[in-house]
Amino acid sequence: MVQIYVLRYGHRPGRDKRITTHVGLVARAFGAHGFILGGVPDEGVINSLRKVIKTWGGNLHIETGIDPYKYIVNWKRKGGIVVHLTMYGIPVDEVIDKVRKDNKDILVLVGAEKVPRYFYELADYNIAIGNQPHSEVAALAIFLDRFYNGRELYISFPNAKIIIVPSARGKRVVRVAKENGKDE
Ligand code: SAM
Repeated sequence: MVQIYVLRYGHRPGRDKRITTHVGLVARAFGAHGFILGGVPDEGVINSLRKVIKTWGGNLHIETGIDPYKYIVNWKRKGGIVVHLTMYGIPVDEVIDKVRKDNKDILVLVGAEKVPRYFYELADYNIAIGNQPHSEVAALAIFLDRFYNGRELYISFPNAKIIIVPSARGKRVVRVAKENGKDE
């Protein structure tokens, strides 16, 4: 199965805590397998994501404080491909079938205000989710949705302590029994 990791570039601790956390949450909820916070480490973001994983399950691989350039080069050296989400890229619908057919692990790069030139150069695909400026959170969500053809909305996570039962009104939540048979 193709592994998808998301590398978030340009995080400014203090200013971007919430939006970077949302990038990580979307990565997890929409079927990515890893979330890499490049540049300045931020344990606050990482702890928020770990809390969500503890309650809602999943095995999202998380790293922080890495050098983005080295990480990208190493990813490619190991045979993975790199997708850079940018409003200047090729429309997603023109390339998504090719990305899927490559059948290789994918590193998805999302930026903040500015991204370095090497993102465009090292990327196998510079992909636009529409050619208007919007948000890394929206861009990532739509890329994953196109890649998985909507199947990511039905993912269930291992080790979840809580599962939602969809309902037309109100909130239905099931607490999952532990292995020893006792309810949480
Ligand atoms: N000038 C940026 C760009 O190249 O897309 C917009 C900056 S935006 C605040 C931060 C990040 O959101 C970008 O680095 C990009 O990853 C993502 N993004 C924003 N709009 C996008 C779009 N239309 N298509 C793909 N990604 C987008």
